[in-house]
Amino acid sequence: MCGIMGYLGSKSATDVLTNGLMRLEYRGYDSSGVALHHEGQLERRRAVGRVEELTRQLESEPTDGGLGIAHTRWATHGAPSENNAHPHLDASGSIALVHNGVIENHLAIRSYLENKGISFVSETDTESLVQLIGFLYSESGDLLESIRRALKDVRGTYGVAVICTDAPDTLVAARRG
Ligand code: GLU
Repeated sequence: MCGIMGYLGSKSATDVLTNGLMRLEYRGYDSSGVALHHEGQLERRRAVGRVEELTRQLESEPTDGGLGIAHTRWATHGAPSENNAHPHLDASGSIALVHNGVIENHLAIRSYLENKGISFVSETDTESLVQLIGFLYSESGDLLESIRRALKDVRGTYGVAVICTDAPDTLVAARRG
């Protein structure tokens, strides 16, 4: 179980998201993270431990914007570590995703994508979903359609939020179960 958040608007996304994570912390607190759309790039900060550790990191390495996603994790696949903390990115670094739940067929998706030359960097089930979205997006250039197709291929339960460098005004959310 975990908490996910997304924000799109005129306030400081960093403030909204970190305040929200503190309120969601009871749902999971082995690590937390945020990804923000900042000047055409995705900027990510992640930390092991309580949300306080993340806010400390954001104080030493600030970032902000009007669009972002955030997560407080309770690990199911992969140890609690900064590398396994959400948000996860696709191989191009242009799509970020946070996920609550379990992707049951993550090993099959992972091996399909590894055979296509995509390298995974975490031990999580979640990374298989964002890598699949990224792979489909690299072929179609259509973000919403890539997310829809990827979500049809995954088995399991999820709540997800997704942002992309190419879509500064778009926050995509979906859930099943
Ligand atoms: N299955 C995901 C992971 O282990 C999400 C866990 C959660 O819902 O916090 O990273």
